[in-house]
Amino acid sequence: MRVPAQILASEGLLDAIIKDRSLNQLVNVATLPGIKKASMVMPDVHEGYGFPIGGVAAMDYPEGVISPGGIGYDINCGVQLLASQLQIKDNRDAVEALSKELHAHVPAGMGKGGTIKLTTEQLDEVLAEGANWAVNHGYGTRESLSYMESHGKLNDADPAFVSTMAKNRGLDQLGTIGSGNHFVEVDFVEKTYNNTIAKTYGLQKGQIVLLIHTGSRGLGHQVATDHIRKMMMAMSHYGINVPDRELTCVPFNSKEGQEYFKAMCAAANFAWCNRQIISWEVKNAWENIFGKEGGDLRLLYDVAHNIAKIEMHTIEGTSRKVIVHRKGATRAFGPGFKELPPEYKGVGQPVIIPGSMGTCSYVLAGTSKSHEMTFGSCCHGAGRRLSRSAAKRQANAPVLKEKLREQGIFVEAGSFRGIAEEAPIAYKDVGSVVDVVSASGIAKKVAKLKPVAVIKG
Ligand code: 5GP
Ligand code: MN
Ligand code: MN
Repeated sequence: MRVPAQILASEGLLDAIIKDRSLNQLVNVATLPGIKKASMVMPDVHEGYGFPIGGVAAMDYPEGVISPGGIGYDINCGVQLLASQLQIKDNRDAVEALSKELHAHVPAGMGKGGTIKLTTEQLDEVLAEGANWAVNHGYGTRESLSYMESHGKLNDADPAFVSTMAKNRGLDQLGTIGSGNHFVEVDFVEKTYNNTIAKTYGLQKGQIVLLIHTGSRGLGHQVATDHIRKMMMAMSHYGINVPDRELTCVPFNSKEGQEYFKAMCAAANFAWCNRQIISWEVKNAWENIFGKEGGDLRLLYDVAHNIAKIEMHTIEGTSRKVIVHRKGATRAFGPGFKELPPEYKGVGQPVIIPGSMGTCSYVLAGTSKSHEMTFGSCCHGAGRRLSRSAAKRQANAPVLKEKLREQGIFVEAGSFRGIAEEAPIAYKDVGSVVDVVSASGIAKKVAKLKPVAVIKG
């Protein structure tokens, strides 16, 4: 190990965490060339490809390594939060119709295509421009770009390093959520914790909000697959040995490192464009149900939770550039960060933490402590406690769907299998996860969201 391994958890969560290989993976990551300070995991950690999901690793720039396993196959999987002007108490009756309308408007399911069919030239524009492409083509407003991490576009993207196969997989997938863990959800604010920040973000008790969780679809997956294959062949050339072949990596400033980074940025841009187009589809469904009286759906924020970014961080008292890998981890920058829209600047960035379709989700705010402790990062969800196959064995999907309905949660899903794999028992207790990050000071609790309708991939 080149650096220590750092775990943020409670004793209770640790019991679940030690059941899979995530802590071995945490230790393996600590051996990678150029890693700074510590290999870190958040309380929602679980086993992933090479790196644990819920992990953060910052590598020295530019000689340290970049590793696709530290980002994940779903490049720029992330969450968008939309705030409505309606209260749940006045609109309970409309929820079922809204869930059906959303299901009809947002294509869901594995490999499922959307209504937008891009030419290869248009796809290259999407890869280069990210969410800008969406707003330039009428899917949303230009102001919304200020409410996205990196304003919905990474400038280092280069479509030339995205293979034809990856591009072919992306041609008809804009505006689609994909399978299983991805969703569009209608929630309401059950509770606010910090009234000043809640007010700043425009959140109040009882308000209906929507969550969109998806990423770069088959395109991003193919980018990861292609570049992992290339890196595996190149790694020995750079004299790198790793304890697990899934930790494939090359120096950031190598040819293969640069090609992957530029392709990863392009896939991240595809994901931001995708979430922006879905949010336009969501707005159409919303308007069909509520008409003009339904008011505007305002983009509160859009976060990435599978990504690598070049950022400045203070390490041993010196400010230096690092390549921060966040895999199942959310950026949680504190007050004063210049990328934030002016009204959020005083309170830090919104951090959106989905829990599960049957429990709840949270909105947090980033803090300056996160810069000191976790390279400005926080958890990204509740995190799995059961594998998909274990969840399928333990959950009875038709019964679960009915039970959730009795609790006032309408579930629309492509398949019962998807529901079973995503059953609330498959996930850790999100409240305990959020309590850990809030007690450690890396994020502040702002609001708790309760689901009323979930459209699953
Ligand atoms: P991931 O990106 O790792 O697939 O998922 C992020 C988090 O989303 C999971 O750790 C889990 O807590 C949460 N999640 C999964 N399905 C749902 C859902 O249907 N609704 C909500 N609100 N959260 C979910
Ligand atoms: Mn994903
Ligand atoms: Mn995700």
